[in-house]
Amino acid sequence: MNDLNINTDVRKTKIIITLGPATDSEEMISELIDHGTNIIRLNMSHGRHDWVHTVVSRIRKISAEKGTQVGILMDLQGPSIRTGDLEEPFKLTVGDEVEIRHRDAKPTMEMSTTVNYDDLPRDVSVGDSIVVDNGMLLFEIIQKSDTHIRCKVLTEGELGSRRHINLPGVKLNLPAMTDKDRDDARLGANLNLDYVAISFVRGPEHIREVRAFLAERKASPKIVAKIEDQEAIRNINAIINETDAVMIARGDLGIEVAYEELPIIQRLLIKKCHAAGKRVIVATHMLESMIENPTPTRAEVTDVSNAVFEQADAIMLSGESSVGRYPLKCVEVLDRISRRIERSGGLGFEESLKARDTKMLTCKSAVVMANELPNSKIVVFTRRGIMAQNLCSYRPKTSPVYAFAEDEHVCRGLALSRGIHAFHLEFANNAKELIRNAITYLRAKGLAQPGDPLVIVSDILQDEYVTESILLYEA
Ligand code: PEP
Repeated sequence: MNDLNINTDVRKTKIIITLGPATDSEEMISELIDHGTNIIRLNMSHGRHDWVHTVVSRIRKISAEKGTQVGILMDLQGPSIRTGDLEEPFKLTVGDEVEIRHRDAKPTMEMSTTVNYDDLPRDVSVGDSIVVDNGMLLFEIIQKSDTHIRCKVLTEGELGSRRHINLPGVKLNLPAMTDKDRDDARLGANLNLDYVAISFVRGPEHIREVRAFLAERKASPKIVAKIEDQEAIRNINAIINETDAVMIARGDLGIEVAYEELPIIQRLLIKKCHAAGKRVIVATHMLESMIENPTPTRAEVTDVSNAVFEQADAIMLSGESSVGRYPLKCVEVLDRISRRIERSGGLGFEESLKARDTKMLTCKSAVVMANELPNSKIVVFTRRGIMAQNLCSYRPKTSPVYAFAEDEHVCRGLALSRGIHAFHLEFANNAKELIRNAITYLRAKGLAQPGDPLVIVSDILQDEYVTESILLYEA
């Protein structure tokens, strides 16, 4: 503690890393967890099923040995639009013309490639832009039929095989899940993974479809809606209402909207998630230069700081940790920046969160008390994680929230929640013993010192009937 009465020992902002060839060994997973990783993301655009089986058992084994509750997030590829296979890449100069055609259609010009989305010619209009390969190439549509799209090349470059296409502002009728997504989600359900992220969510019905698919397979992971295009922004209120968490997927989103809109959209989405009591992740390009370099650029430091100051639940590494040269250093950088910025305060968007029931009201009151008590810790006993999520939503200013749950899946489902540190504990039959066990655990781990005020919250402490309560204890 310092003289500002600020708890400096526990980081609130959660760190998500994307696993890949640079980090999927036992040694690296172990180091990443030691460095403070809270959630490990498996990007199904690249991960094969045998690889998923191997790394999931590695992560589970290592976290069990360490007694930590690391969450696993399966990120479904979604209906990504890609060009077809080419024998040789096309070398394109400004003013060239290129054709994109239906898979069954014959080429009508020399530089012609297919596309994996059959309805693309129907969805686009003359004058629309096509962004290829994350902005490496830019086309404008100059002519179209039911099966062919003719484009003018606006920037010089090379078009290779299976390049990703974005269509800023175009309303697409893509499905929520592809066959590959269903195969992958089935695997995620079998492995009881903690989070499933849905790419290119465009409306609440996409979330309902994936949730129902998983529920049929007896799986209930937290759903993360990846916001990647303008249609998702238009439907954002309904999406937030339906999802457990939002990922601001700035890679695709930054192509689909004008780049100067991106910081405004990021702030708006965080604000809306706070007001709705939902989790929010800021993703992509946070430490991009560290894929190659050992230190971040000053602009990257500021970008990460901004997300922490906005009090996002989590910040995420992609290429930096999957293929980068300095994955551990990247986690260290995120950790250092988060701790420092958390001490400087935050935007306070949680003030607009309205209590919808007595559970929320209890949690709000507990946070008000903890904010007034120097050096306090909040302790919550939670069966399904709901009380712990509520406490997170009210963003305690300095006090960490220690959540105890009997179910490890519930603990891992809290890994995304800002400021929550979840622990597995068998619940004793009476409240006194349960509290004593929790205090013993926290003191043994050095997370509470004798005399620290504990604000204890639960709806399970009364032996005879379920009722919300707040108790004040000393560690
Ligand atoms: C993104 O576009 O920012 C993102 C996180 O999605 P993906 O890595 O799947 O492209």
